Amino acid sequence: MKNIAVLGSSGSIGIQSLDIISKIKNLSIAALSVNKDIALLKKQIKIFKPKAVCVCSAADKEELKKWLSSQKLRIVVYDGAEGLKKIVTLSEIDMVLFAIVGSAALIPIISAINAGKDIALANKEALVTAGKEIMSLAAKKKVKVLPVDSEHSAIFQCLNGENKKQVKRLILTASGGALYKYKKDFSKITVEQALAHPTWKMGKKITIDSATLMNKGLEAIEASVLFNVAIDKIKIVIHPQSIAHSMVEYIDGSVIAQMSNPDMRLPIQYALTYPDRVEANIKPLNLCGISKLEFYEPDFKKFPCLSLAFEAAKIGQTMPAVLNAANETAVNAFLNKKIKFSDIAKIVEKTMRKHKIIKNCDIDDLIAADIWARNYAREIL
Ligand code: MG
Repeated sequence: MKNIAVLGSSGSIGIQSLDIISKIKNLSIAALSVNKDIALLKKQIKIFKPKAVCVCSAADKEELKKWLSSQKLRIVVYDGAEGLKKIVTLSEIDMVLFAIVGSAALIPIISAINAGKDIALANKEALVTAGKEIMSLAAKKKVKVLPVDSEHSAIFQCLNGENKKQVKRLILTASGGALYKYKKDFSKITVEQALAHPTWKMGKKITIDSATLMNKGLEAIEASVLFNVAIDKIKIVIHPQSIAHSMVEYIDGSVIAQMSNPDMRLPIQYALTYPDRVEANIKPLNLCGISKLEFYEPDFKKFPCLSLAFEAAKIGQTMPAVLNAANETAVNAFLNKKIKFSDIAKIVEKTMRKHKIIKNCDIDDLIAADIWARNYAREIL
């Protein structure tokens, strides 16, 4: 039996992963966490009977404890950032699935790796912020870091059994998001327009990142650290059908792609069952039913966030952490209708220009850069 902690169990990835775990015999839930949706957490507790849960605030913790005793359920309740750090170390847990959004996942990820837990990562911000540190710690602790992001799961699958030294480049596909074909004024784009993703159903933050193409920039940085490939060996290709989830090109010119209908349940499940494959209840891929698969060069001018991400990756050090933190702040402001869509890239760029890079940085420097960038971006909103 593999006992899994799902952090962020009320979000899009969290809900889908619980559904998968409930259908696979040798997987079970050991712990859950939510940010705000206590009502859904209560339902999940009744179904999955976890050993422990974590909520955001002390007030939520008190409310939940009262409810648990009324239900005669004995479950340990943690709260806050400290709670997340502790819950991942419980001895019952074999693997932690990180479905929390944002660099807030960084400290619990480090805590889980230090406790020897395998990691399934749906969170990309932590890898962008401190990818090298996470990967070297995981190697030291002999912990697996399995990607849940569809592109990285695809690359992971295309690398299976191959000699990584013979990789020429990684080809990351992008659907293009909600606005790839939008030709009008980007400053007038509404939250609703930006949230209308054509092929993937996801959480709000990542859907806005898809619309700005920052998501693909973050994913390029994520791929670079996960697979230890230089950023200039990562190529972005717009592929509107979202059928080929990414590819690996080898030195002999062979390109291996992983394909399926776009359904996050597949990469989530593969991370949970790896190295095994089990039947998944997803729509089979009917290639003859798809009239065409298209591939285009991305438009770096129309989508400046993509250029900014590559620039941050090339600079390295604390810059990717700054890029990510400024972006999280700006996206949040856009979702709250405080800034225009076109301001997201401007805020990220201004914050990057203002930042003084810290060389040979450690985790504390990266966390400090993250906090600095959030504060600065908030000031210039
Ligand atoms: Mg993705």
